[in-house]
Amino acid sequence: MSKVKYYYDSETLSYKKIERKKRRTFKFVTLFLVAAALFGFLFVFIGGHYFESPKEKALKRELTNLELQFDLLNKKMEEAETVLANIEDRDNAIYRLYFEANPIPEEQRKAGFGGVNRYKKLDGYDNSELIISSSKRIDKLLKRIVVQSKSLDEIAVLAEEKEKLLRAIPAIQPVSNEDLTRMASGYGMRSDPFTKLRKMHWGMDFTSPRGTPVYASGDGIVERADSNSAGYGNHIRIDHGYGYVSLYAHLFKYNVQKNQRVKRGDLIGFVGSTGRSEAPHLHYEIFKDGERINPINFYYGSLTPEEFNKLLERASLENQSLD
Ligand SMILES: [Zn+2]
Repeated sequence: MSKVKYYYDSETLSYKKIERKKRRTFKFVTLFLVAAALFGFLFVFIGGHYFESPKEKALKRELTNLELQFDLLNKKMEEAETVLANIEDRDNAIYRLYFEANPIPEEQRKAGFGGVNRYKKLDGYDNSELIISSSKRIDKLLKRIVVQSKSLDEIAVLAEEKEKLLRAIPAIQPVSNEDLTRMASGYGMRSDPFTKLRKMHWGMDFTSPRGTPVYASGDGIVERADSNSAGYGNHIRIDHGYGYVSLYAHLFKYNVQKNQRVKRGDLIGFVGSTGRSEAPHLHYEIFKDGERINPINFYYGSLTPEEFNKLLERASLENQSLD
């Protein structure tokens, strides 16, 4: 039971309850608080709508800055794309062409990413489009760089192969022949020094005194160094790989052994007149895939055009070979 308070009314000379007045005060205070809360709420709600807080202002500035940076990044990507396109063009038109590799098709270089939407998590924001388009651009750029890098790897291998091939091809004269007078007889129909009959001469003869150094005309491995082939006497065969073999006949002495690895210009033996030979000379042949071909076409590396023409003229004379 609640306490009931009274006050003494001197006019009526009796006690009266004081409860009522307090109730009214309480009501008034409650009303005031509710009104204040409502007003406060309205103030924050409407004010917040029309006026920015310092924090919001800072965030907005940051957002504007981000968009600006995105634009700058896109410009830089454009530059990178231009540079890469230039490299790709050169790759297809020069490097791959030079090393006889097929150009990489445009679609393969610039292919996007199919299947699942890998940009889904970037969806649903005001700036989603900007972020997604930039992400796509970077992803494509990265893929193109990977394709280009692989292409260069392939070319590096091809270049190394080509260099090996160029070192292997028998491309110099097998004896020192500075004034070109040593070349005595070329490849083609010649008169046989012994029978005097016209017959095929399968190589080139270089007249040189006995003991003149003979050089390997390309990198390779000594396949034979013996006198077991009729007519050639002491002879050396070098396997250069890629189907090329060079042969050096009528030697006086060897300077290499079978299975020895040699480099172009290495001293492999000395001129002699062993086998079917009329006088000291080097008989030199080149095989390609088992066929004997004209060695005159292989001196391009070491001769000037004038020298080559002179040698060609001499080699074409249908004279008597030394065999
Ligand atoms: Zn000969």
